Amino acid sequence: MLDTWTLLIIDDCAADRKIYRRYLLKDPHQSYQILEADCAEEALALCQKMRFDVILLDFCLPDMSGLELFDQMQQKIFETSVPVIMLTGRGDEEIAVQAMKRGALDYLVKQNLTQDVLQLTVRNAIKQSCLQAQLYKTQERQRLIATTALRIRQSLNLEQILNTAVAEVQQLLKCDRVIVYQFAPDADGKIVASSVESCGSLALCDRVGTGGRRQGTGDREQGEIPLVCTLPPAPVPLPHAQSPIPYIYELGLCNCVSLKEQFNTKANLVVPINLSNNGNPTPKLWGLLIAHHNSGERQWQTDDAQMLNEVSVQLAIAIQQAELLAQTQASLAKEKQLNAFKSQIIATVSHEYRTPLTSILAAASTLVKHSQQLDESKQQRFLGIIEHKARYMSKLVGNMLLVNQFELEKPKFQPIRLDLEQFFSDLIEQERETAGDRHELVFKITGNNQDFWGDRGLLQQIFTNLISNAIKYSPDGGAVEFHLIGKESQVIFYIKDQGIGIPIADQENLFQSFSRGSNVDTIPGTGLGLAIVKACVELHGGNITLSSQVGQGTKVTVSLPKIFPTAQLSPSST
Ligand code: ATP
Ligand code: MG
Repeated sequence: MLDTWTLLIIDDCAADRKIYRRYLLKDPHQSYQILEADCAEEALALCQKMRFDVILLDFCLPDMSGLELFDQMQQKIFETSVPVIMLTGRGDEEIAVQAMKRGALDYLVKQNLTQDVLQLTVRNAIKQSCLQAQLYKTQERQRLIATTALRIRQSLNLEQILNTAVAEVQQLLKCDRVIVYQFAPDADGKIVASSVESCGSLALCDRVGTGGRRQGTGDREQGEIPLVCTLPPAPVPLPHAQSPIPYIYELGLCNCVSLKEQFNTKANLVVPINLSNNGNPTPKLWGLLIAHHNSGERQWQTDDAQMLNEVSVQLAIAIQQAELLAQTQASLAKEKQLNAFKSQIIATVSHEYRTPLTSILAAASTLVKHSQQLDESKQQRFLGIIEHKARYMSKLVGNMLLVNQFELEKPKFQPIRLDLEQFFSDLIEQERETAGDRHELVFKITGNNQDFWGDRGLLQQIFTNLISNAIKYSPDGGAVEFHLIGKESQVIFYIKDQGIGIPIADQENLFQSFSRGSNVDTIPGTGLGLAIVKACVELHGGNITLSSQVGQGTKVTVSLPKIFPTAQLSPSST
């Protein structure tokens, strides 16, 4: 079926109007609805009421010249150029040229007018007008997308980029809501930006899907949308121009049904956000850009989809830039942290090594120079000093290497099944030997301590450090209690002393390397022990807390899970 075009004939000669009408209605290639005006005033009134696909305009009208009327129509009525064909008399081609310069589509000389010429000229004018309109629309779209892209890419902050993108797309598509959905590495995902500010439930719905595990609505947490997303394959080809498209990606691939229900959404338009993939031809699917429409039915047009796609490309570039910046900043921060840590090590080594080294040197040179004059017991005492100080320095080096290893994130973790009661009896016995008489070490065991898996070396680090702290920071002696409480799925340890305690202000930072309490006075230490303890506890998937009161004593609690996920176990431990 032929499209019907609306045409206006403006001519004061009724006979001429009749001829044009007859000629045009005979066109086998085009169908017309024709209106007529015999003066400029009537023509202007008609143009104000309705839009014409093409206008035949006589160059000479009773109330105004054709050119004047053309100017007025352009200024007052139409936003874009007026689709006008000028009708001139023989010898008036000058007027026609002027009209063409002002934007008329074509002109016809009345005296030469035949049926074929009129039909062809009008058909061509309509075609040209359509092309012009299409071009204008494309340019306008490009301009809008360029502005949108500029706004999106103005920031290097991911959150800001996403928020700008959803707001801009909502404006661009004039839709109710725009969402950015980000895939997690395990194909799970969450909504990371939404253009709707007043939608409380949306702000809450951080987690959207759980990789297919939570599809029903029964166990839905408040504000959570059970959207199950699987990675979409290649996009569904776009339908022909102007035809409505409900989704670019089939909803079967991205099961938005629940999402639609949740927001009473009648129409979704979904496009992928693809990041370039380190030279790999297959891009990395980062997430989805989703436009929703709630109010009334909306038939998405190819234009809408193309715009969303183009914005998605710009958004992907902005995301990639933001990610790159974040990565660079993170590695810079890590570098800075490592440098600070290295400076700390150098400062500590030079400080902590000097005192024991001086003692070792003094004891050794006394022995070298005066061994003849020293009796057996004095020689033993000097040798004892050398051994004790050398051990201290060796422990210091060991601790620093360990902390360094943790800082570089290369810890070794080899859990094995352990007899906890035996392990701690041995450990306490060892500590008793070094503690001397002034401290009473109490060891209490309760509950079920079977089936515990742990890394022997790391556990030794944890508990020798904690027990030696309890002893070291109780210079007046007293009881040091060690409780082992076995629960069903975890084991809890308390180490409690009656020592100097820790000022509240210092407690917060004690688990950081080189951090010491302000009340340690001359008690030696480097501030590395608790940092090592914390790292070892975390490797076990456990937790450590500390409570203390100055002058009263300190209680450190460690809880460790009994069993490890099999995936974490190394071959040597089985
Ligand atoms: P080292 O590296 O030799 O262990 P350190 O004992 O100073 O040195 P940490 O074990 O990390 O280092 O302890 C940090 C600080 O916490 C100590 O310097 C001390 O101020 C405080 N602290 C730790 N345990 C106790 C405790 N049981 N009683 C009082 N203060 C403690
Ligand atoms: Mg210590």
